[in-house]
Amino acid sequence: MLTLGVLAGDGIGPEIVASATQIAERALGSLSIGVQWRALPFGLTAIGEFGTPLPAQTLAELDGLSGWILGPHDNAGYPEEFRGMLSPGGAIRKHFNLFANIRPARTLSTAVDAVCPGLDVIIVRENTEGFYADRNMYYGAGEFMPTPDVALAVAVFTRPACERIAHQAFQLAAVRRKSVTIAHKTNVLAKTTGLFRDVCLTVAEHYPDVEVRGEHIDALAARLVSHPSDFDVIVAENMFGDILSDLAGQLSGSLGMAPSINASLTRAMAQAAHGSAPDIAGRDIANPVAMILSTAMLLRWLAGRDADASALGVVAERIEDAVRRVLDAGVGTPDIGGSASTSFFTEHVLAAL
Ligand code: ATP
Repeated sequence: MLTLGVLAGDGIGPEIVASATQIAERALGSLSIGVQWRALPFGLTAIGEFGTPLPAQTLAELDGLSGWILGPHDNAGYPEEFRGMLSPGGAIRKHFNLFANIRPARTLSTAVDAVCPGLDVIIVRENTEGFYADRNMYYGAGEFMPTPDVALAVAVFTRPACERIAHQAFQLAAVRRKSVTIAHKTNVLAKTTGLFRDVCLTVAEHYPDVEVRGEHIDALAARLVSHPSDFDVIVAENMFGDILSDLAGQLSGSLGMAPSINASLTRAMAQAAHGSAPDIAGRDIANPVAMILSTAMLLRWLAGRDADASALGVVAERIEDAVRRVLDAGVGTPDIGGSASTSFFTEHVLAAL
């Protein structure tokens, strides 16, 4: 029996997480793999019940699991005292040292009207430090305001964190098209992004079959649009990776289609690349594809980690294939030009399974 945690989150979170868990359950059931979902308090509802978006009991329960699904959260919608602190999703990443955020972007179906249909990249984003000041300190945050008119932020780059994320990128590229692009901005951030680039280049020596090149983040962003097929795996620090992956997600179809996992060497968390979309919450029109594909990525990650769990890789393929067939049939939510509701789309994927 496989036990997976479920943290539904805010905004469209409960709708898309319910879709993803139903679909995963059906796909796992078709291979007779039992799954137990452990729903855990998280987000706005947890504030109401436990006085915090991330209760200690949720962290304690996650500690006993190797995988879980996290719905998007809406920090901006929390009461004043919870804003400006580390987001609950960021706190989970930090607590479990989920240092690698793996964000693929590719057009799943020709029926999806993508700006760059030829795009097939994986953004490997460092998750624990870099320019995101809310998570790069042991204590406190790396943003300060000495006066109401002066704001400062500290970026943190460390050799071990750059090394481990670089290894993730090269390992992924080695089983794909064998190319890694390092995102940096060494002309103006020579020490910080320079260290990131140089460590990645040193790690590259362990992977002689993989070609490597560095590129300034701004030029890279432009070339991602003009020459999408030039890219295979892109490795980036935290903020560059976050921005690039939203860009890549949208170029390959819609933000609502962009999946991701956050992983350490022992645990992984499925999390869509998009946010909680409060503007469309509760209307049954959110695109569940990113959450569904993130869940498939989690199953594939579990399969890769444990030889006994290799059947989970087959389940992941079945889920992706079912989603592709439904999209190919022209069924899609409004963000990709369709008219299907979240539940209608989910029913079609369940039927395809
Ligand atoms: P965050 O900072 O948490 O990533 P955000 O402010 O970047 O959030 P999102 O919540 O990702 O913003 O939403 C950006 C836009 O994309 C919104 O108009 C939203 O409705 C749309 N969007 C995001 N996710 C989906 C989805 N799954 N289906 C349909 N539309 C979506």
